[in-house]
Amino acid sequence: MTRDLTIKLHNTATRKKEDFTPIDARNVRMYVCGPTVYDRAHLGNARPVIVFDVLFRLLRHVYGPEHVTYVRNFTDVDDKINARAATSGRSIGDITAETTQWYLDDMAAVGALEPDHMPRATQYIPQMVAMIRGLIDEGYAYEAEGHVLFRVRKYAEYGALSGRSVDDMIAGARVEVAPYKEDPMDFVLWKPSDEATPGWESPWGQGRPGWHIECSAMAHDLLGERFDIHGGGIDLQFPHHENEIAQSKCAGHGFANYWLHNEMLQVEGKKMSKSLGNFFTVRDLLDQGVPGEVIRFVMLSTHYRKPMDWTEKKREEAEKTLRKWYLQAAEAEAATPSPDLVTLLADDLNTHGALTECHRLSNAGDTAGLRGALKLLGLLDDLIPEWAAVQALDLSDVEAFLSDAHATAMETKDFAQVDRIKTALTSVGIEVQMSKDGVKLTPPPGFDRAQLEGLL
Ligand SMILES: [Zn+2]
Repeated sequence: MTRDLTIKLHNTATRKKEDFTPIDARNVRMYVCGPTVYDRAHLGNARPVIVFDVLFRLLRHVYGPEHVTYVRNFTDVDDKINARAATSGRSIGDITAETTQWYLDDMAAVGALEPDHMPRATQYIPQMVAMIRGLIDEGYAYEAEGHVLFRVRKYAEYGALSGRSVDDMIAGARVEVAPYKEDPMDFVLWKPSDEATPGWESPWGQGRPGWHIECSAMAHDLLGERFDIHGGGIDLQFPHHENEIAQSKCAGHGFANYWLHNEMLQVEGKKMSKSLGNFFTVRDLLDQGVPGEVIRFVMLSTHYRKPMDWTEKKREEAEKTLRKWYLQAAEAEAATPSPDLVTLLADDLNTHGALTECHRLSNAGDTAGLRGALKLLGLLDDLIPEWAAVQALDLSDVEAFLSDAHATAMETKDFAQVDRIKTALTSVGIEVQMSKDGVKLTPPPGFDRAQLEGLL
């Protein structure tokens, strides 16, 4: 446990970067809103997963792996799932089971650790019903035509997370008007189900939960009255997170102390959309041969609170850089993240700075530091990924490697890495010539290629 390190996080609720103080350092608790399972995760869906995975890893590093509890839910009851079942002719259970597994596989491929708990909404119906019942009893919710609605105006703090008033939010949002609502802002806690729609017995008839209540019920059940961090994409801030807060607070729960939101993802400067033809899933990229580590690297190169732009150029650069780093890290005897790296991550997850630190470690030839950094960032597990493993090193690989290092050094003005490689090559009798035309290596007569292994 690294007790002398203070993690700083930008809390959306206060709009300030704050020192993070857990309620209980022996059990640091985090909840992140997960996917609705009816289709493959698109690239944008991977961003919160990777962002909060970095935070999860940092918390585990600082407080100890056994002292962190991370919950991320699966929404497996939703009208989009029902619609998918209707159009495909498949059962809801099949669709949600299949897409849940897809999600887990795709997120594992981008290096995300599995959270400690991954509750499914359908497993928490009794807890949701109990919570809704309590809200009705206290006058925060009402039943109307088989629906139960939350009375938004009854919760004076509504809008505090987004820093907007209820009236501003009505003006800016698509609020569903329905005859059974007392106020257009009121949102659904429970709704009736017909024969063809999944439904559960409730005091308000056969029905199903609205979306928001599940997170409040599951967070309470798994993390208690009050927990430390609640995360999600900025698109969830309103209405989903405002509604979660309203329900939980009115049910008498403390709910979350720190709110973190990641910004959205674009592709080549444009919003990803099916109509623009730039829509793709994580699986599409993996199938095209883009390694999961490369996807993760590109995501980490932009701070989570800035909009991120996925570009082909970044993908190429990331792959080149990771190949080089893995080659170096393979030679490391230990994995020790540098204190500087941890400090950077502790500063509101400065992942961009952390990657710059990796460049520095690489240039300095600090292979143990580099390996430790890659490990903490989730970019390297115990084995060098197969795609980057150098099977038979030959001189042209080394020439390319040295020429990359030289190009980097020209930018950073740090030639330590270049000098280190040159010294290593000279030590086995290889003549190194570097000119504007590139790198030329001349081995001594009878040179054994095996001498290159482990040299760099
Ligand atoms: Zn949620």
